Amino acid sequence: MKIHEYQAKQLLEKFQVPIPQGGVAATAHEAFKIAESLGGESFVVKAQIHAGGRGKGGGVKVASSLSEVTSLADAILGMTLITHQTGPEGRLVKKVLVEQALDIEQELYLGVVVDRAQARPVIMMSSAGGMEIEEVAARTPELIIKEAVDPAVGLQPYQTRNLAFGVGLNPHLLRPASSFITNLYNMFLAYDCSLVEINPLVVTTDGQMLALDAKVTFDDNALYRHKELIPLEDPDEMDPLELEAKKHNLNYIRLDGTVGAMVNGAGLAMATMDLIKLAGAEPANFLDVGGGASADMIANGFRIILSDPRVKAILINIFGGILRCDVLAEGVMEAAKQVNVSVPIIIRLEGTNRDLGRDLLGASGLNFTVAGDMLDAARKVAALA
Ligand code: GDP
Ligand code: MN
Repeated sequence: MKIHEYQAKQLLEKFQVPIPQGGVAATAHEAFKIAESLGGESFVVKAQIHAGGRGKGGGVKVASSLSEVTSLADAILGMTLITHQTGPEGRLVKKVLVEQALDIEQELYLGVVVDRAQARPVIMMSSAGGMEIEEVAARTPELIIKEAVDPAVGLQPYQTRNLAFGVGLNPHLLRPASSFITNLYNMFLAYDCSLVEINPLVVTTDGQMLALDAKVTFDDNALYRHKELIPLEDPDEMDPLELEAKKHNLNYIRLDGTVGAMVNGAGLAMATMDLIKLAGAEPANFLDVGGGASADMIANGFRIILSDPRVKAILINIFGGILRCDVLAEGVMEAAKQVNVSVPIIIRLEGTNRDLGRDLLGASGLNFTVAGDMLDAARKVAALA
């Protein structure tokens, strides 16, 4: 789960990670009010969307008066911001963060991620802040200093020193840098994050270190331990079909192709997607209805696939085990009653109650073709899509 920059900064503050003063606004007038209460000469107005690269895309602007805050907020709110992370369709801006502008001396990068190969959190720091870290890693990897933390021992003071000296920080910043890194790491652990990224971490001309930007991703599998985080999720940032699937406990991910796929079991779903590609088409989604899906869940899954206008044909690939093929057929028929099925369906059914499932579907009046095996099914659906 991702959250907005302004939400991430509220969490950082709880962990004593310094952030610029500011507030979030949904209207230009609110933005003005925040700037007025902040005081000072200049302000930054920042679009709040779940994507980086906002600066380059025109979503981060500096205002040098209160009236400029109003006009910038007016321009940014409601704009469709396109960055290299949003895709060409961009993202509608509904909120802006208004902050006191800082006089920046140095921009650094600081991130904490889980390194699966080492099975440890890794802290990364770089003197090349403010730009994409992927680019720094590709061009100047020597500018990225890394420290893996042994979870049994915890973050050690020598490691924060290695990071601070490694990026060439002025020695008098060692103490604030160490507590910045330690506090950030504590937050990463406390919330079971998969990523915490401060880019840039700035040193101001008066020698303060602050998190100018913040990106936080939580591990969804650990969210049950952090119920207080769940309200931070912004449904506007989620794909509406994925949101709907989540409500019904379906593992659904929307993709860019034209073949809708309904499969039980993640492994079978992966294999089905591979075969669709092999047959020359692209899957429109990943959908694992799970081993013990009810007719209701099948109906919801089928309805979600059908409501994607890009879907030109559907492949139902089920190996009936705990989920019986007749239950699958009932679910598909239930969904077909609720929504008009205008695309062809290819079915590959095997396993428990296969014949019963085929008979039910055969008598349903739906337009579908039975495939002999998976490859045959993939070829048929690719030809139709
Ligand atoms: P991103 O482009 O989505 O990563 O958004 P950031 O929050 O990182 O902002 C992009 C850039 O805007 C930063 O790297 C800074 O160079 C600049 N910026 C943001 N806030 C301030 C500020 O208070 N003062 C100054 N001078 N620049 C800022
Ligand atoms: Mn940034």
